[in-house]
Amino acid sequence: MSTIPTPRGRLTAGRPLAELTWLRVGGPADWLFQPADPADLAEFLAALDPAVPVFPMGVGSNLIVRDGGLRAVVIRLGRGFNTIRCEGNRVIAGAAALDAHVARKAAAAGIDLTFLRTIPGTIGGAVRMNAGCYGSYVADHFVSATAILRDGRTVTLTADDLSFAYRETAWPEGAVLVEAVFEGQAGEPDALEARMADQIARRDASQPTRDRSAGSTFRNPAGFSSTGRADDVHDLKAWKLIDDAGLRGATLGGAQMSEKHSNFLVNIGGASAADLEGLGERVRKEVYDTSGIELKWEIMRVGDPQDK
Ligand SMILES: Cc1cc2nc3c(=O)[nH]c(=O)nc-3n(C[C@H](O)[C@H](O)[C@H](O)COP(=O)(O)OP(=O)(O)OC[C@H]3O[C@@H](n4cnc5c(N)ncnc54)[C@H](O)[C@@H]3O)c2cc1C
Repeated sequence: MSTIPTPRGRLTAGRPLAELTWLRVGGPADWLFQPADPADLAEFLAALDPAVPVFPMGVGSNLIVRDGGLRAVVIRLGRGFNTIRCEGNRVIAGAAALDAHVARKAAAAGIDLTFLRTIPGTIGGAVRMNAGCYGSYVADHFVSATAILRDGRTVTLTADDLSFAYRETAWPEGAVLVEAVFEGQAGEPDALEARMADQIARRDASQPTRDRSAGSTFRNPAGFSSTGRADDVHDLKAWKLIDDAGLRGATLGGAQMSEKHSNFLVNIGGASAADLEGLGERVRKEVYDTSGIELKWEIMRVGDPQDK
């Protein structure tokens, strides 16, 4: 095994990842690195054997980590990466800042990034996934990002570099986002607060927000734009196809397609990653058999299937 550099931050061998993900499943990472600050991260990556894979993670709200864990250095940013500053109509946010905190701080400064309020991830995950809801996507507000590449170089990435698309970006392999700059329209703080309260209520009414899930399991199959910019004209909803296949509430071990929203895969207790992924694959097959439409995963699945 390659030697691992000694950073100033915290490096842990064989760290179980389940408790770091929303679905509470997944085996250990070979290493978990929590850098002290961007310089620590850059020095560590520059010194790390280029053959060792690096996987940045936020709060794991869009991830199934498989039961065998990850043969990689998992990088999780925390303090030192979570500042939020507002300047004019711009918000500069650290990658570890929670989307909800960014939305609220922006609103207090009269900047409309309200769409981030109900997305449970971090800014790193939001940019990487081009997160969005209620008709707005990261792509609509993104100005630039600072990232540290796998070889330790610090670069500025623009929207052109990232080619935002529906729930994806051309993110450089192994690069870690450390900070992003967003622009929002001006708004009255009270009106922005009211809009966010309304969004929270709408979510709670329609989605299992208190369950262990990773948000939408599959992408809505049609109608998205090639730019990934806001357009909510998805004609085919994944939840409708799942309902039509009779799979609302279907279970496998501790995994279930939620009764409340059938495109939410939930851990109802004691699920393994194999239960969750297996149920998702069964849904893909049965939806294909009933409708001829191939659902594509929105949840990222990473790591080795089995404990060795
Ligand atoms: C209840 C619920 C509701 C949701 N609703 C929505 C919604 O409305 N809209 C939506 O878009 N998503 C939604 N999601 C999915 C999820 O919250 C988003 O995809 C979110 O952006 C993921 O952020 P994260 O920090 O948890 O990233 P993770 O899940 O930890 O990682 C996701 C991806 O981002 C990468 N990543 C994370 N941090 C970094 C970084 N610093 N540098 C580089 N790459 C990084 C990871 O490598 C991985 O590829 C929902 C999830 C849940 C549980």
